[in-house]
Amino acid sequence: MLVIGAGLAGSLVALALAERGAAVELVDPGQGCSATGLSYGGVPWWAGAPGPLDALMAAAPAAWRQLEQRHGPLGWSPCSLRLHWSDAEVAAEAAVEGVQALASRHLGPDQVERLDPSPASGGRRVLRLGYGRIDSRRLSLALPEALERAGVRRRRGRCGPLRADALPARQVVLAAGAGCRALWPALPDRLRVSWAGVLRLEDASLSRELLSRSALIQPNDILMPLVARRQGLEQRADRLQRPEWIVDPGLAPWGEGLLLGQSSLIRPGSACGAPPQAAAQELELRRALGRIDPRLGQVPASFAQVPVSFCSSGPPLVGPVAGAAGLWLFAGLSSPFALVPALAELLAAALCGERPALERLPGASAEAGPDWG
Ligand SMILES: Cc1cc2nc3c(=O)[nH]c(=O)nc-3n(C[C@H](O)[C@H](O)[C@H](O)COP(=O)(O)OP(=O)(O)OC[C@H]3O[C@@H](n4cnc5c(N)ncnc54)[C@H](O)[C@@H]3O)c2cc1C
Repeated sequence: MLVIGAGLAGSLVALALAERGAAVELVDPGQGCSATGLSYGGVPWWAGAPGPLDALMAAAPAAWRQLEQRHGPLGWSPCSLRLHWSDAEVAAEAAVEGVQALASRHLGPDQVERLDPSPASGGRRVLRLGYGRIDSRRLSLALPEALERAGVRRRRGRCGPLRADALPARQVVLAAGAGCRALWPALPDRLRVSWAGVLRLEDASLSRELLSRSALIQPNDILMPLVARRQGLEQRADRLQRPEWIVDPGLAPWGEGLLLGQSSLIRPGSACGAPPQAAAQELELRRALGRIDPRLGQVPASFAQVPVSFCSSGPPLVGPVAGAAGLWLFAGLSSPFALVPALAELLAAALCGERPALERLPGASAEAGPDWG
């Protein structure tokens, strides 16, 4: 079996296939950065998901712990999510109540805490919630060894467009994220691409110092705006007439360093396109970070951009590709760090002939998925 793309989706499905005894080859150019390698890695396991994904989402912490038992440390840790906002933000109270109601389905009262603003927090309010995360830096370092131990053959290379009558293996999994459409253009229109920009701070001592002095965040926690604008942009994706971009001022630990902020650009249409002009995005990202803490806007961090696949509507794309026997798709997930461990198992089971495995996800690979809302 051939898996194309060694990000989160491709690597976990390759591991699940190898555990089932399949001969697996995993191919990836391995240059530059993938969305997986620059991810905040947040696992919003209590946040709910549409239809049959809801139960898989709630079980995400257990799924990661099980994966670590089988393959060694992959960067999982329980943490807190800190959502920040200012009193000037319209409808913040309604948003806080909404998040608290969602979280209280799974979290005890000691895991939900509202912190009062202080001069040190720049007057910003914070809601702290129990959460989980995968450190994407540690995951990227751990995966190659885990794959090797599991017997997955890794090959460096970039696959070209595929042909239904000449697939390079008996079974092929497209897990190339934003690169899937270049390999198989006839994918559903709802598979879209955003360009994400983020600042990488690799200096460990400066990262520790920033965290120790910040009134907004503690080491190991993830900081996000109360209302993340990226989600809203993804939901508007089908209606965009021109490229639109937003910035979300947040922060996440990344190995010994930090990832700071996130810009997202979405263009009309489903093509990946070239990365957007970096300088303007970096400037806006630094300005937004500076508004929550002036030191964050000025950190000596490098700006990086990666394409991220998502679905603008309907379920994620997990299953066989219509019109190409032996070709499978695993892309377009929202909250992939919560859902990929379970979905990779289901997909691997289906690839190994346990077809009913994917019946738990009806319509996931159909052109127009059912409404799971
Ligand atoms: C700043 C940031 C913060 C994020 N925060 C979160 C978060 O908190 N929680 C969460 O769940 N998600 C988050 N995400 C999203 C998440 O990281 C991605 O959706 C996820 O990692 C995608 O995984 P993937 O394996 O599908 O794709 P990718 O990680 O993009 O991997 C695809 C791989 O395919 C390879 N490839 C592409 N084309 C080819 C080809 N032709 N041949 C061979 N290989 C190819 C690429 O090189 C790449 O390595 C965030 C993303 C970013 C950028």
